Amino acid sequence: MFLDVDGPLIPFGAEPQQYPTYALGPDLRGADANPLLARIDPQHGAKLAVLPCEVVWATTWMDEANECIAPLLGLQQLAVVVWPEPSGVDDQDEREGLHWKTRTLVDWAAGRPFIWVDDEVTDVDRAWIAAHHEGGALVHRVDARRGLTDGDYAALAVWLRQPFGENLV
Ligand SMILES: [Mg+2]
Repeated sequence: MFLDVDGPLIPFGAEPQQYPTYALGPDLRGADANPLLARIDPQHGAKLAVLPCEVVWATTWMDEANECIAPLLGLQQLAVVVWPEPSGVDDQDEREGLHWKTRTLVDWAAGRPFIWVDDEVTDVDRAWIAAHHEGGALVHRVDARRGLTDGDYAALAVWLRQPFGENLV
């Protein structure tokens, strides 16, 4: 499961005072700490851990997701998707509304079924994945104002119980 951070784990887009905040451990409380980390509900860790799939960071946080967020959630170090340098194809993708992550994630999946959890995915990405990815895929959009909810986790769990090998996009 490819997991975005900004939006799914760190809600944003509404008034800042609308977000609950959570205490940070001593390692993350320093002056250098990103104040957005306080918006991450530590309970996401347990909810992610029980999903029967490997979770992979798919975020611009890159290695910082393992350094700052995994400990906050009580998760072990996860694989991190490495994004390619910008290339000529990006401009065309942007015009067509394809997310800049989509091609890379399909490459990483290499035909294996996957979930992609992100606040920015659209039907353009779903259609592209359906046309370019042989395994099943669940492209799950999260409301960035709330982040991952119990309803989102329920939808992920339902999909993960499906038999794979079918076209489930
Ligand atoms: Mg995001």
